[in-house]
Amino acid sequence: MKQVALVTGSSRGIGRAIAAELVREGYAVCVNYCKSRQAAEELAAAIRDGGGEALAVQADVANRLAVEAMTAAAERALGPVTLLVNNAGISRQGLFQDVDDTQWDRFLAVNLTGARNAIQAVLPHMLREKAGCIVNISSIWGLRGASCEVAYACTKAALVGLTRSLALELAPSGIRVNAVAPGCIETDMVRALGPETRELLIDQTPLGRLGTPEDIAHAVAFLASEKASFLTGQILTADGGFIV
Ligand code: NAP
Repeated sequence: MKQVALVTGSSRGIGRAIAAELVREGYAVCVNYCKSRQAAEELAAAIRDGGGEALAVQADVANRLAVEAMTAAAERALGPVTLLVNNAGISRQGLFQDVDDTQWDRFLAVNLTGARNAIQAVLPHMLREKAGCIVNISSIWGLRGASCEVAYACTKAALVGLTRSLALELAPSGIRVNAVAPGCIETDMVRALGPETRELLIDQTPLGRLGTPEDIAHAVAFLASEKASFLTGQILTADGGFIV
């Protein structure tokens, strides 16, 4: 069967590296973006120039109808989605007391409901085929607490619950559901914290460096591969030893 991956939030950072790695693994890839149109289209064009298959599609993952339309576009152009990577996510630091309704709702809508929207969009085909793979990008902050990132950590912890519960529900249908929990990875998300925090995070990482987006892409590719065919409901922590 043709391997087709939909990677949410793959215009930049970790998602971009995941999309590129999956192309190397032989997948046709739907590069989803919300705002970074140029970056997403450049990535898709580079993949096509390299002989791969790719399509860049705009959709805010929080918008169910937009996600359904994106999935339909991907299926028309590339074929039915066999691998979904729920990577799109937002973060922001601040005191819990200051998180207003708008911010709280947006965290849930993008980081959690976004994954729900994408899963429900790709599931009909996977259920028909009795095959498929879903990888959710959680975070070490969803496994351990995160001061000043409470709302973000809540959504990432919820993705752990989603992963384990859905893995049980979909196992009889031959669909595997796993998650990667990255540690501190060198992307815009961590750069936004400033150089001092960046140095602090390196100091706190036993392997003595930030992770690269490619470190996470390799973990995702492994979970999606045949080598992981007996793994479901697992949370693979890729953090240089941060929460050991
Ligand atoms: P990033 O550099 O900020 O990139 C975020 C990506 O998500 C962008 O491609 C962005 O697309 C997309 N995105 C944001 N909101 C979206 C929406 N509503 N709909 C569709 N796409 C959306 O972040 P990153 O560091 O690569 O993080 C990727 C994932 O890894 C996130 O889920 C994050 O929580 C998780 N993670 C990151 C770290 C870390 O240290 N970096 C650690 C643990 C977990 P546009 O630019 O097109 O809007």
